[in-house]
Amino acid sequence: MTLDTPLAPKPGTPAPSAVPAPLRHEAETRRYRARTPGSLREWERARTRVPFGVGTNFRIMDPYPLYLRSARGSRIEDVDGNVYVDWALGQTTMLTGHAHPAVLAAARRQMEHGTLTCFPGPLLDRLAEVVCERFRLETVRFVNTGSEAVFYPLRVARAATSRDKVLKFDTCYHGSSPEFLQGKATANLRPGNPAWLAEALWTNGLPKAFTDLTVVADYNDLDSVRACFRENPGQIAAVVVEPVGLNLGVLVPRTGFLQGLRDICDREGAVLIFDEVKVGCKLGPLGAGEYFGVTPDLVAMAKSIGGGFPIGLFGGRADLMRQIETGGVAHVGTYSANPLSLAASLATLTEVLTPETYDRIFATARALADGYREIVRRTGIDAHVVNIGASGCLFLSRGQPFSRADFLRGRHEVWPIFWYGMLNRGVMVQGHGPEDGWTVSAQHTEEDVEASLRAFREVAPLLA
Ligand code: PLP
Repeated sequence: MTLDTPLAPKPGTPAPSAVPAPLRHEAETRRYRARTPGSLREWERARTRVPFGVGTNFRIMDPYPLYLRSARGSRIEDVDGNVYVDWALGQTTMLTGHAHPAVLAAARRQMEHGTLTCFPGPLLDRLAEVVCERFRLETVRFVNTGSEAVFYPLRVARAATSRDKVLKFDTCYHGSSPEFLQGKATANLRPGNPAWLAEALWTNGLPKAFTDLTVVADYNDLDSVRACFRENPGQIAAVVVEPVGLNLGVLVPRTGFLQGLRDICDREGAVLIFDEVKVGCKLGPLGAGEYFGVTPDLVAMAKSIGGGFPIGLFGGRADLMRQIETGGVAHVGTYSANPLSLAASLATLTEVLTPETYDRIFATARALADGYREIVRRTGIDAHVVNIGASGCLFLSRGQPFSRADFLRGRHEVWPIFWYGMLNRGVMVQGHGPEDGWTVSAQHTEEDVEASLRAFREVAPLLA
């Protein structure tokens, strides 16, 4: 597999910024179409049987999605044979890199002994021991998706507090439970921004009775949290927060924000839930609680813990989790704790995501972010690079964003030029909306960083 060679400007081409943004966008989209006829064919076939021709609404792209045939290491290959350095990594899931040999070997070994029995086996406690120690949880249950991983601790919190409402933040996403599919108005920022795309993603079909149970506060704003508690006295069972906001670029919590949430929850008798579905494992070997020095009551994790296999977990304080044994909170699911996912997760956490691997990941993450920063500085464009742990993003405006209002100030009209510009030069730079960031995996190399910076040197002037 070879990377696309960077596209050299033709002699006599005018300076990129002299061309108006819509035309620069159009030019990159034309290149995309020229390079991906196979994806167009796949899309035209699939959309007759599958809504939008994609597996979930987050995969919709304008003018049509990229269809992939292979993902190995740090690279993905589309159906036309174009190869890309992949920093999007399965919606940030593949911290191991794709098809990691240790994870595949563990899964193959397990497959020889069956993939589903719905009886517990020794792997259950083996993995429970590893995650409880690593993430400082007293007890844990396993699930299949991030949505379940957040939904169940909310149920536990509701049962424990005899309250119904949940407080979430305007910048956070927590999966497909009705209570959580609101308070995040960014789906319309996808490349091309067609109105049908924005409308297709969200909240029709969710009964008001459910959505009325959600109270939305502003991320990084403790006053707005206090106001929510004042307006809903004795009604909020839980505060759910992404400790690092990875669903609106990369929003780092301001000093004191998470501790402030801890204090408010203690005062108000609410349960503090860290949703680490996306950030889990990306800040280092331990959980976000250890990283920020704030202990949540319950934690939700998924994505990176599975090395590409479907698994999530929720857990934390044993006195709360006891609701499952004695409080009538039925946590159920045919595929929960299936041995294939348990085996893959065990290999991911014990063989791949080791302290030595983190040293490498963080060194690569710094090199990538520093390289982007330097190009931004030299080009003089309005852009800001944020990175923390293995995560990062390019924010198309000056200054670091800390809130939804900051984020919305970004020059999102220029976003498609960035994204398609990088894609056309062999780099899947980050998820395909400005609300997604990049992830550096255990299998990314210096060469991947170099290839990406080479592409960005050409694309950055287009973002003026
Ligand atoms: N929580 C967070 C923070 C997420 O980012 C996501 C998905 O991106 C979810 C929950 C839902 O996870 P899943 O898509 O596996 O249901």
